[in-house]
Parts: sequence; C-alpha cells; structure tokens
Amino acid sequence: MIPTLLPTYARAPLSFVKGEGAWLIEADGRRFLDLAAGIAVTALGHAHPALVKALTDQANALWHTSNLYQIPQQQALADRLTEHTFADTVFFTNSGTEACELAVKMARKYWTEKGHPEKADIIAFTGSFHGRSSAGIAAAGSEKMTKGFGPLLPGFVHLEFGDHDALTAAITETTGAIIIEPVQGEGGIRPVPDQCLKGLRDLCDEHGILLIFDEVQCGVARTGKLFAHEWSGITPDIMMVAKGIGGGFPIGAVLATEAAASGMTLGTHGSTYGGNPLGCAVGCAVMDHVTDPAFLDDVNRKAGLFRQKLEGLVAAHPDVFEEVRGSGLMLGIKCKAANTDVVQAGYDALVLTVPAADNVVRLLPPLTIEDAEIAQAVDRLEAAAASLSAA
Ligand SMILES: *Cc1c(COP(=O)(O)O)cnc(C)c1O
Repeated sequence: MIPTLLPTYARAPLSFVKGEGAWLIEADGRRFLDLAAGIAVTALGHAHPALVKALTDQANALWHTSNLYQIPQQQALADRLTEHTFADTVFFTNSGTEACELAVKMARKYWTEKGHPEKADIIAFTGSFHGRSSAGIAAAGSEKMTKGFGPLLPGFVHLEFGDHDALTAAITETTGAIIIEPVQGEGGIRPVPDQCLKGLRDLCDEHGILLIFDEVQCGVARTGKLFAHEWSGITPDIMMVAKGIGGGFPIGAVLATEAAASGMTLGTHGSTYGGNPLGCAVGCAVMDHVTDPAFLDDVNRKAGLFRQKLEGLVAAHPDVFEEVRGSGLMLGIKCKAANTDVVQAGYDALVLTVPAADNVVRLLPPLTIEDAEIAQAVDRLEAAAASLSAA
C-alpha cells in the first residue's frame, strides 16, 4: 500500500521538535548541529528573535489579503531589494521554482514584445538546478529529473559551463536568454569563475541577449556578498531569489531591470499567495540583517575560518575526503567515500549536512553560526570521518 505521504523523498529517520540558532533538537533532547539550514533557507538560524517578532507581529495584525489590494509589506521588501541590487522591479513568488517560471516567461515576453517571438531559446548549463516545475526541469535538463514526465517545455539548450567557445558557437538567431547559477548548489557546490560570468555578460551585451542568474541558493549573503554575482562585478538582467530571503518562511522573488521586465504589463502574471504580508514582513527583517556591512564582514571572516578548518579535516582524512570548494558559507567537500555515507556518519555524530551531485557533501550553515560552533561542527565531521576510516 502506498504511504499516506507520497513516497518521493528518502527521509532520514530524524525528527525535530525545536530549533535554536544553529541547533536542531529531537524530542528526546538530542541536539544536532545544523549545517543544512533547510538547504540554505534558515539563513539567520532557527527562531531568530527578529524574525519571530516580524512574523508574530504581522500574524497578529493581518495574514492575507490577495494582490487585488495594496500590500505595504510587499512594497517595503521590493524597495529594499531594488535599493541594494541592480534591479528596478520585483515580483514575489512562493518558491524558487515559481521564480524560475516567471524568469522564463519574462525573457520570452520581452522578445515577443520586441517583435522577435523566435528568440524563445534559453541556454542553460549541465549540473544546474532550477526547480521541479515543467520549466524548471526543462531548464536543468538532467535525465534524472525529466525522465518519464512526458514532453518537456521546449526551447532549452544545454552546455557545460566554462567553455566560452562552445557558448559563442551555441548562440543563434533564436537565442533569447542565458540562465545560470553563479554557484551551482545541487550540482555539487561548483562556483562559476568570475571570468566566466564576465564573459557571459559581454556575450549577452554583444548579442542583446538577456542574462538570468538563479541565486535561489547562493544569494542572500550566503557567499559573503548580498548576492553571489557581486564578486564578479557584473550584473544580470533578471535574477531569481528564494530560500534565504524568507529565513524559513516560503517566499521567492524575481528581480529585473526595467528593460528586461518591459513585457510584463498589466494582467500578464499573478499569484494568489506570492508577496503575502507574512512572508514579506519576514523578508524585510531578513534584509535588515543581511544588508548590514558588518554582518557581511562577519560572514566572510567565518567563511575563512570554516574553510581553513575544513582544509585540515580533508588533509587528515585523505581516504574519506578529496577537496574543499565553494564560496563564503556555501561550502562543499568532494568525497572519496560515498557522500551519502558521509552524511549518514554525520547524523551519527550529531551534525547535519546535505548531499549534492558530484559526490559532494554540502555545508550550508546558518550565516549566524558562531566561531565555537564552527569548531564543534568540524569536530563532529572529524568523528564522522574517523568512523568511516575505521570501517
Ligand atoms: C532550491 C532551488 C530552486 C528551487 O526552489 P524551490 O523553492 O525548491 O522551488 C531553484 N534554483 C536553485 C538554484 C535552487 O537551489
């Protein structure tokens, strides 16, 4: 008999009743150090007082009205996002996947309005992840996600990133946009070199193509800049945001320049819940923290500390680990042992990590993790590695 929960997830036999900062606690009191953060979602840790206050204040005042009316919290969050980024305008969604849907629609509508509906093709990259909708799986293009789900949304071309010549050759009269994660998350914490991002921007400018960044996982201060692309000095035309922006409340966004958004006129898109007052109130509180230069400095300092300790860990266990990679507090350890065994050994050592493609274990701690907790995290990963070395 089918379980009453559709069995699409391989869930660990762990269940948490409480979260405190970088810690998740089970009913029996066992405390896990959380380097998963709900997959880069709980960016300010669990039960951050400012987020709890923003959510409960809003919950006591008003939960939901619909986008038929003005939503001041939504306006406030859009103002914060545009003030701190390249973007002129923002649309709020409930998730990263829905941000992908709109990014694709926006790019295609841009070209249609310009009299070039044939420019519907979008170049994407192997190893990418853009969500699980029909557009999202077509954009990522991996057989694992698309197999068996019938005809895919057409118009996606897939390339390996880093091959500038192949990219140049792939651009045709029907190319309208390029979509890329500045740091691949699900693909195994693979940062796209700054030089490549600059090359992409140049190519897009040369051909008048729209550049779409998927910063759903790498954005919101995760890499030590508010958005990861800032390290490269260039900006996209359209950007997808979700995960960290809600700190655990489901909210996403599409940010765009005025030009890129020019096709999205009255009545062309909408959402029942997107930009709901609860989500936007929390999003504003998150933005107030992650835009503070001192907060970003601290993320960078802690990222250096964490990385240094991880290099030591990898050097001490060459039979289990291969290398450390990533950007800021978006860290990955490429493993020699099976990454799923490393994650499992971590559970036994009371530390939570996330597997990714390319046999990588992801470390996505809350950005508020403390130095002592980083040291504890590495001690627990050490215990996990030792148990695998002994086995
Ligand atoms: C998680 C993720 C998505 C999908 O976001 P959901 O909120 O799960 O729909 C899209 N792109 C990237 C890069 C992601 O990491």
